[in-house]
Amino acid sequence: MADLTRLTAAQTAEAIASGETSAVDVAQAHLDRIDAIDEKVHAFLHVDTEGALAAARAVDAKRAKGEELGPLAGVPLALKDIFTTEGVPTTVGSKILDGWIPPYDATLTRRLKEAGVVILGKTNMDEFAMGSSTENSAFGPTGNPWDLTRIPGGSGGGSSAALASFQAPLAIGTDTGGSIRQPAAVTGTVGVKPTYGAVSRYGMVAFSSSLDQGGPCARTVLDAALLHEAIAGHDPLDSTSVDAPVPAVVEAARNGDVRGLRVGVVKEFGGEGYQDGVMTRFHESVELLRELGAEIVEVSCPSFTYALAAYYLIAPSECSSNLARFDAMRYGLRVGDDGTHSAEEVTALTREAGFGAEVKRRIMLGTYALSSGYYDAYYGSAQKVRTLITRDFERAFGDVDVLVSPTTPTTAFPIGERADDPMAMYLADLCTIPSNLAGNAAMSLPCGLAPEDGLPVGLQIIAPALADDRLYRVGAAVESAFIARWGHPLLEEAPTL
Ligand code: GLN
Repeated sequence: MADLTRLTAAQTAEAIASGETSAVDVAQAHLDRIDAIDEKVHAFLHVDTEGALAAARAVDAKRAKGEELGPLAGVPLALKDIFTTEGVPTTVGSKILDGWIPPYDATLTRRLKEAGVVILGKTNMDEFAMGSSTENSAFGPTGNPWDLTRIPGGSGGGSSAALASFQAPLAIGTDTGGSIRQPAAVTGTVGVKPTYGAVSRYGMVAFSSSLDQGGPCARTVLDAALLHEAIAGHDPLDSTSVDAPVPAVVEAARNGDVRGLRVGVVKEFGGEGYQDGVMTRFHESVELLRELGAEIVEVSCPSFTYALAAYYLIAPSECSSNLARFDAMRYGLRVGDDGTHSAEEVTALTREAGFGAEVKRRIMLGTYALSSGYYDAYYGSAQKVRTLITRDFERAFGDVDVLVSPTTPTTAFPIGERADDPMAMYLADLCTIPSNLAGNAAMSLPCGLAPEDGLPVGLQIIAPALADDRLYRVGAAVESAFIARWGHPLLEEAPTL
């Protein structure tokens, strides 16, 4: 068989089910690829060679017995290191969890295993998912496979880089303000933030619980849909889990069509701060949607202007509360426990040593915003803005079926460029944050390379809550039109590492 690392997840599953190849061969090909190139990319924090091969052997044994295999059985996956994995380290990109081996699987991990998905290992990320470049990882940055001196996005840069460098055909991300979509955009891959509550948060380390959402990452829209179906669904262990049927995302991905669809272009996304080449590719995508039969409407969402400010009060507030559990007593790192310090001192010394600068910045910001004298002025106002943003979406979705925008204002920036400028870093999520605040569903998929730097540009599609299938219907139509235009998937243009 041709290079097994170049297949899509759907092709891989088919090749395994038909006996054309084995799950073990597929897993081994990806482990070899990781061995050969991940020293350069640094997508993985931990590679679980034994676990991956054992999972693959189990799939092959099942097939040998004639048992039915699920649609993703034997397909390798790179798991963001924010989901707990029984017996396999989970660090969340932080030193504070150093040495912690989770005693249980996250619901998502369990579902992947039940589906016969082969988990290759855990991917690098900004510490506690706070960042847009993966530079905030305590374990060093990840390179963008298109240009290793540039960022692969964040916080899920390990997952996006693993896909773009053909180390895995599937990956998992989490999106609190854009951490699935922005990494997808800058690596030329597909990433979906499902409707809030669609994928269980049980065993997913909490950053900002009212915004956090796990979701699928892949190289094609269909692969993302197959993964979406495998991980979504109600979970009694997560009190905010949606108790409703999972939208028919795979069927939608197989039937891409935008004829008669009303597509809204958000007026507020564009203009100053947006790279020319990003806007060029975005406008082309809108034209393409029109050619494919969609009706294009301009919509205005005036409150989106305040989304970033509201997010940077709400997310740090929730983080300051969620991260209080890292008290040196329960998990991982413990500093100063030598009989000379009080418990409070051990907690303080551990948090000082274990958290990085960005995490500390957010804990301080959040603690301040929640303090009694400022609660109404900051946290309360941010929650009001959140309501206004939700209303803007409701009004827009009264007129259109989906909204589109660039995923992120620029292509991948050089590692180091924004590291000392948090505000510049925060701007990467200008277009993605509103959907987290409102809880609706959104996808990023590749829409070409920016002419000035030859780097991937992402198109964002936004659908109302619980209408995740619309993302896939539109995404699949756009994807096949682009592949027809370019003659191949965009990733074929990426340099081979
Ligand atoms: N970049 C945003 C932040 O730093 C979003 C991160 C995320 O989605 N996890 O908070």
